[in-house]
Amino acid sequence: MRRHAHPVVELAGVTKEYPGGVTALRGVGLTVLSGELLAIVGPSGSGKSTLLHIVGTLDRPSAGTVRIAGHDVAALSDRSLSALRSRHIGFVFQSFHLVPGLSARANVAEGLLYSGLPRAERGRRAARALERVGLGDRMDHRPHELSGGQKQRVAIARAVAGEPDLLLADEPTGALDTASGRSVMELLHELNEDGATIAVITHDGEIASSLPRQVRIRDGEVVEDTGPAGAA
Ligand code: ADP
Repeated sequence: MRRHAHPVVELAGVTKEYPGGVTALRGVGLTVLSGELLAIVGPSGSGKSTLLHIVGTLDRPSAGTVRIAGHDVAALSDRSLSALRSRHIGFVFQSFHLVPGLSARANVAEGLLYSGLPRAERGRRAARALERVGLGDRMDHRPHELSGGQKQRVAIARAVAGEPDLLLADEPTGALDTASGRSVMELLHELNEDGATIAVITHDGEIASSLPRQVRIRDGEVVEDTGPAGAA
């Protein structure tokens, strides 16, 4: 992995101040290499969501630099930034964010809407992604016909169908029972073994310690970073 690894995320001196005087991030530096699986872990209020928004290019920093897949976010217009986001980043949320009336397959295909692929190809890729997450027999089920764990697998299939450079998973097991949560984490490990770069945002120390790298955040600062696995 390391020989061909390249930086997917490069943050330097990232600070985020919200109106009203809250400084949610203070001088955060973070580099994520391709092929990594890491946890961004910290208690409630430590700045995890803010960091997720900045790494996910949903928000811009007040100061500091953000590069995603080599692109300096500050140099991009909002429109170019959303193109960058749809091409390079997949999101998984605690509460799944699936479209209620749509089949699993249509939900996953939605994730490919901006890929420029023809509709039929989007459908084929969606089917393949669902097979990849073990839901080949649930393609036509709508979200209310799926268990929580299955819904999260659909959301993960949607996030990875376009083969993003980075998968950002925000408390991906937060709404699941222990067994489903464990199997979702196993799936993330498998996807990482197949080459996906994955950052899991969590307050859960146990989940964090099950991953190869932990970035600990507290009061808006990185207080510990175990670094890329295998790095000197
Ligand atoms: P976490 O995800 O770790 O719980 P957040 O990033 O949500 O932490 O919050 C970090 C700090 O920033 C908190 O003190 C929170 O109250 C504050 N904060 C978060 N979002 C906003 C916002 N939109 N406006 C003002 N303050 C915010």
